[in-house]
Amino acid sequence: MSHQHPVEALANLRHEFGEHGGVNMSIEASSTFTVIDPGTMPEIFTGQKGPDNAGCYLYGRHFNPTVYNLSRQLAAMEGTESAYCAASGMGAISAAILALCEAGDHIVSSNTIYGGTYALMHDFLPLKCGMTTSFVDSSDLDAVRSAITDKTRVLYVESVSNPTLRVANIPALADIAHSAGIPLVVDNTFSPLLISPAHLGADIVVHSMTKFIGGASDLIAGAVCASQAFIGQLMDLHTGPLMILGPTMDPNVAANIALRLPHLPLRMSAHGARALALAERLQQRGTQVSYPGLATHPDNALLAELGNAEFGAGGVLTIDAGSKEKALELMGALQNEQQFGFMAVSLGYFDTLMSCSASSTSSEMEDEDIQAAGISPGLVRLAVGYTGTLEQRWSQLEAALDSVGM
Ligand SMILES: *Cc1c(COP(=O)(O)O)cnc(C)c1O
Repeated sequence: MSHQHPVEALANLRHEFGEHGGVNMSIEASSTFTVIDPGTMPEIFTGQKGPDNAGCYLYGRHFNPTVYNLSRQLAAMEGTESAYCAASGMGAISAAILALCEAGDHIVSSNTIYGGTYALMHDFLPLKCGMTTSFVDSSDLDAVRSAITDKTRVLYVESVSNPTLRVANIPALADIAHSAGIPLVVDNTFSPLLISPAHLGADIVVHSMTKFIGGASDLIAGAVCASQAFIGQLMDLHTGPLMILGPTMDPNVAANIALRLPHLPLRMSAHGARALALAERLQQRGTQVSYPGLATHPDNALLAELGNAEFGAGGVLTIDAGSKEKALELMGALQNEQQFGFMAVSLGYFDTLMSCSASSTSSEMEDEDIQAAGISPGLVRLAVGYTGTLEQRWSQLEAALDSVGM
């Protein structure tokens, strides 16, 4: 099957003009919507009328036209039939899982996932909803297959895992999920545009737009991209997790993000080019570095096969400092002596953000799970920004490494 290129799909989407012909869409800053004919209201409640039939809107926690407009752009980018946004990545992820699972159901998840998602599956869902999760190494396809039981309702992975940067074999995982009659859910936060999970067989794609899509570390947002039927299920007036639990995206945030999507391709390429150049120089220098764009990375060939190569191999690389103490020393030198970047969690920012994964973003995980996931205590994650020049950033990085004897 041939698929439309994500950037072409975004550009081909009919542009929604502002109310007075403005080049940007208007912000529908209304929490409630009027109907002309009294008969319309009951028809909206029963689902006969809605945003996609007759252009009817009900209430701001249900669909909002501005949020729906951004959602259509995300659906075009991911190549799914539909999409809807949420107030955060966790709002989107938890809504998708809760729509797929009932009490007593089971999830099979990759063992290297975002700390908040791990906490949702490992702690929150068993306690509050009676849903259990088996965490497996998702690059071990036999392990994935044998973890699936007749209670399993979801196979869940991240396109590029955090912080081990393993690339998911989405076509193979989709085959396994579909043979078991369950959907594959892929968190594509680390690789928007680089990887198109739905084109590779994923059924549901989730995003934290707080990261690359937002691009400025100034807002929190998320999205679920899936079939129209599934998005309808998220919005069901009785059992829809987005509608009932209410992690609703504000229309002002939606309009704001819509202004950033057009330059997402430029930014992804810039992050990728800078990260690759630094990774190559680090490797040449003999530093322990991992980056999917390096030939020495275990998934370099898989990414080349699955990815949209023109956007590079992503903006995240890791350096193994050997110990937690050394990792902290290196980050201190990089931030406070060299002004190379900031010690902060998150990624996708225009400046470089640095964190020691085992004691920050993955600290929700149990110690043995951290070990099983291959996260070494001295692993420093660099979410590489594109500010400054390459030569300036390289000399800062080299000086910091020298100063801590690495
Ligand atoms: C940040 C992140 C999330 C959570 O997103 P929020 O917007 O912070 O709720 C989920 N998955 C991944 C891979 C992330 O990096």
